[in-house]
Amino acid sequence: MSAVNTLEPRPVTVLGATGSIGQSTLDVLARHPQDYQVFALTGFSRLELLQRQCLQHRPRYAVVPDEAAASALREALRAAGLATEVLSGEQGLCAVASHPDCAIVMAAIVGAAGLTSTLAAVEAGKRVLLANKEALVMSGALFMQAVERSGAELLPIDSEHNAIFQCMPGDYARGLQRVGVRRVLLTASGGPFRDWSLEQIARATPEQACRHPNWSMGRKISVDSASMMNKGLELIEACWLFDAPPARVEVVVHPQSVIHSLVDYIDGSVLAQLGNPDMRTPIAHALAWPRRIDSGVEPLDLFAIARLEFEAPDLQRFPCLALARQAAEAGGTVPALLNAANEVAVEAFLDGRSGFADIPRLIAAVLEQLPRDDAGSLEQVLEADRQARLAAQAWLQQYAH
Ligand code: NAD
Ligand code: MG
Repeated sequence: MSAVNTLEPRPVTVLGATGSIGQSTLDVLARHPQDYQVFALTGFSRLELLQRQCLQHRPRYAVVPDEAAASALREALRAAGLATEVLSGEQGLCAVASHPDCAIVMAAIVGAAGLTSTLAAVEAGKRVLLANKEALVMSGALFMQAVERSGAELLPIDSEHNAIFQCMPGDYARGLQRVGVRRVLLTASGGPFRDWSLEQIARATPEQACRHPNWSMGRKISVDSASMMNKGLELIEACWLFDAPPARVEVVVHPQSVIHSLVDYIDGSVLAQLGNPDMRTPIAHALAWPRRIDSGVEPLDLFAIARLEFEAPDLQRFPCLALARQAAEAGGTVPALLNAANEVAVEAFLDGRSGFADIPRLIAAVLEQLPRDDAGSLEQVLEADRQARLAAQAWLQQYAH
């Protein structure tokens, strides 16, 4: 017998609704109209998709990049008889992320562009479902202080961190050592180039990099998975979320992407979370936590999978992982420099302005060139981001091929 929900549906803002995570979130929400209602949807491109999403989910607010796009959407929604209020720009994003009537915010904008609105949701004390790992990588200390101060409920959407969260004891915030955690084992699929030689990787095209064997994702994170920078960013993300020193987070290549990560305890127990590689599982988990709800994901068929494999990452072929570990150890603004340099490098690669092997080269050059600063204020973080982008553009002009 299923319990009857006597509570009002909880209002949810989806930042980055038109993206891969945003669409999976709307899929899960649509399965539970009694429990959740869409409060606000935001999109930066593919605004015709945003319009269709508004018609289906009837949000109170929609947010688009600028006023021109806002008037177009306003007109179209009004013609369809919708009362959705259309806002624009960074201000609009922050307004819907921190609105007093919204309870849950899915932070699924890609890259540094999501930092301000994600932080606004945290500062407003929302339940924040964090997909936008770059925001945490850039501003980890500030971000976690804001969580503490506001009482926000931060729940990881990245499948690995969601898995780690599920395998941690409830009181892990007391400190990993106190609760008997020896190591966090972060699994990585190895991406589309796992078996490729250095020479083959150097010649990789954007289409090859975006063809992930197990996951269907946005283009930026697909390239990050191919370079293994995604795992590097996730290493930094894990350090902040679970207050772990980088040395306690080990990367394990696991090509099947069935084990989403593991926690190793001092008594020799290793807990893992398994499931089909479908982001609707962590999304449903974080939406309903500590309850469980249907996500639409197929049950795991262990007999069909039959075999689970593990190997050590190859830092020679995937130098981005080593660069990210260095940045995690250096701390301060170094992760923000790493992230910004990577964003510029990935965009240049996707636009055909540079090669795949230029990604780690560019990042290493930027990290060598720019000094580490404290990341004690948002201004310092944003300044590091700006400097790294300038240095990265200059590097591309000079060296990219
Ligand atoms: P995506 O490219 O599919 O979607 C990105 C969303 O952000 C879109 O809605 C886009 O309109 C919006 N956006 C882009 N630039 C913007 C800007 N300047 N201002 C405002 N909005 C902007 O990306 P995705 O794959 O859904 O990933 C989103 C985030 O989730 C990333 O940080 C990624 O690392 C993380 N993540 C994704 C997956 C996945 O399976 N896709 C898994 C784990 C973590
Ligand atoms: Mg992940």
